[in-house]
Amino acid sequence: MAELTGHAVRTGEAAPTGEKGSTMTPSPRQGHLDAQVFDEVVRATSELIRLDTTNRGGGEGNERPAAEYVAAGLADVGIEPRLLEKKSGRTNVVARIEGTDPGAGALLLHGHLDVVPAEAADWTVHPFSGEVRDGVVWGRGAIDMKNADAMALSLARAWARAGVRPPRDIVLAFTADEEDSAEFGSDFLVREHPELFEGCTEGISESGAFTFHAGPDRRLYPVGAGERGTAWLKLTAHGRAGHGSKVNHSNAVSRLAAAVHRIGEYEWPVRLTPTVRAALARLAELHGLRPLGPDAQDAEVDALLAQLGPAAALVEATVRNSANPTVLEAGYKVNVIPGTATARVDGRMLPGAEEEFHATLDALTGPDVRWEFQHREVPLQAPVDSPLFAAMSEALEHFDPGAHAVPYCMSGGTDAKQFSRLGIMGYGFTPLKLPEGFDYQALFHGVDERVPVEALHFGLRVLDRTLLGGATAASASTTRDATVPSGG
Ligand SMILES: [Zn+2]
Repeated sequence: MAELTGHAVRTGEAAPTGEKGSTMTPSPRQGHLDAQVFDEVVRATSELIRLDTTNRGGGEGNERPAAEYVAAGLADVGIEPRLLEKKSGRTNVVARIEGTDPGAGALLLHGHLDVVPAEAADWTVHPFSGEVRDGVVWGRGAIDMKNADAMALSLARAWARAGVRPPRDIVLAFTADEEDSAEFGSDFLVREHPELFEGCTEGISESGAFTFHAGPDRRLYPVGAGERGTAWLKLTAHGRAGHGSKVNHSNAVSRLAAAVHRIGEYEWPVRLTPTVRAALARLAELHGLRPLGPDAQDAEVDALLAQLGPAAALVEATVRNSANPTVLEAGYKVNVIPGTATARVDGRMLPGAEEEFHATLDALTGPDVRWEFQHREVPLQAPVDSPLFAAMSEALEHFDPGAHAVPYCMSGGTDAKQFSRLGIMGYGFTPLKLPEGFDYQALFHGVDERVPVEALHFGLRVLDRTLLGGATAASASTTRDATVPSGG
């Protein structure tokens, strides 16, 4: 059990770098969390935003300044950082905070240091200014996800200042290249340095635990416990090339068009994963609706979704696989039948529903059209009945009384997919309390990305309570066998 009280507060200690943030309201001291940590989290978010770590894809990026910033902040309080690069400038930082309970599995707290590009002309403030204005930190990465990097760094520093140790070992990983292929980031770390993650059973990272306003006085916190897999497909139809005026029953264009039509019109059956089933049960309860039975028909699931109002958006994309045609390419002249025609399809697979996805695509494309994966990422699932999930929910509901944590399956992909190869179950948990009308999801990769100072302070408290929870650690090591790294 960590020591929570009785430590002297030292103020005025040097923060990692830069000037003092001054526009935020001072927060009351909470247990071992001193006033300094609430200043630092804002300053670190702002200063990390100012270090431009734009990832332009194709290997082009530079996370080193942000990695050095984080490493200096850790080293300053006696936490030894490892800086790791597959390619010069694409720097990752890994450090371990030793827990008090050697029997508990370690927990990985990871965040990426890179950001997607931002076009300054479109923004109200410069995207790399890190400006703190009217209690809001502005800039690229304020939500995705330098805010979370700053929380992890500031919290680790606060614990070190107060002499607090968490029950579980906590491995901190600040990664490069998440916004592209992860080749220089988490993929490299998992391949080349798995020993740094020894003992890690669970991971926490983007992008759940934000306030979702689901109606008057109904605040939800969706906590990520799964991710759909990505299946970007290329379809190719072959036929007999020839003159457009002749009879041709082997026309590649019409063969392709027929397959694309069948895919686009197909009604995928409902496949409820444990995470989505738990989400629907919780949402039904919170809305006073009848829960689904174990053998609910597709129509019943759709009927429940229709009654959930805004909250349906949290689950509707994850009750079934999907495959949407997005690109068509064929032909070059109106009186010439081309020999081939191609299309691309954006497919998404639920955990456990991948074989069905294959078989369905085989049937829908038929004998005349070939399909292949152009890009593929595995789906993930983490248990929602684990002690860690309970601790995350409890901490959220503790600091926002009247709100409710709900599990959800994320529709996109994160570094958690890479770390799942080490048997680490990933949760989406970057706690932020957001006011109504603050469109969190639109700010991911969006213009005028920003985060309220109060949201960062809330996040610190929730993360601190979650990670220091003694009950969580005691039984965490028993949850490992529930890993479902489905697919491959
Ligand atoms: Zn992200």
